Amino acid sequence: MRKNIVAGNWKMNTTLQEGVKLAEEVNNALKEVKPNCDVIICVPFTHLASINNVISKGLGLGAENCADHKSGAYTGEVSAPMVASTGAKYVILGHSERRQYYGETAATLREKVALALENDLTPIFCIGEVLEEREADKHFDVVKSQIVDGLFNLSAEEFSKIILAYEPVWAIGTGKTATADQAEEMHAHIRNVIAEKYGQDVAQGTSILYGGSCKPSNAKELFAKPDVDGGLIGGASLKCADFMGIVNAF
Ligand code: PEP
Repeated sequence: MRKNIVAGNWKMNTTLQEGVKLAEEVNNALKEVKPNCDVIICVPFTHLASINNVISKGLGLGAENCADHKSGAYTGEVSAPMVASTGAKYVILGHSERRQYYGETAATLREKVALALENDLTPIFCIGEVLEEREADKHFDVVKSQIVDGLFNLSAEEFSKIILAYEPVWAIGTGKTATADQAEEMHAHIRNVIAEKYGQDVAQGTSILYGGSCKPSNAKELFAKPDVDGGLIGGASLKCADFMGIVNAF
């Protein structure tokens, strides 16, 4: 059975000291509640090793990106082996902000996914359409292409290790959430796309998270949908109480 997951994406927020404090708060809060889902925080590279030292097994740790090369003359980049060496187990790949501002293409993402898997990092692979694509009724095709081009080079065994995050770009950081029905419609489509390529077992076993202005007030309705297996949370992951409000929606 697929897992329910709530994952935070801190983006470029918090100093190291602030980040360690927030991670400790989330870690302590989780000990109190015993969540009905897996909980992960994805944090800036600079924070990974320190945060890994202060959290317990019940809280997963991930990076927000990794390089498309293993090592070498790529000044400023952080490789998948480096991320793994901090103790992190997850990595967000293909976030729309990286596609949009840093020119990440499907070809780059295929390299990153391969390196993440080689280093035992679970990719949280993001997909999602921009507003013009939805308005032009192209959102189903756009999301399918992102999955086909970025992931369908993988074997079924490799694909089974991927977590998907559907994040309509028009809903990220805008306060405008997809309705639960819009999310469900797209998640069901994504599961069909996976089933066509890898079969029902793999499709039914894949966790598909929703991301885009998810908050304690709307998480329950979104997570109640049969194909929504949790959330990737940006803004609301930066306050322990808000993040826990979403975790507790399960
Ligand atoms: C994100 O960037 O992954 C995200 C979902 O952001 P927010 O929750 O702030 O919309």
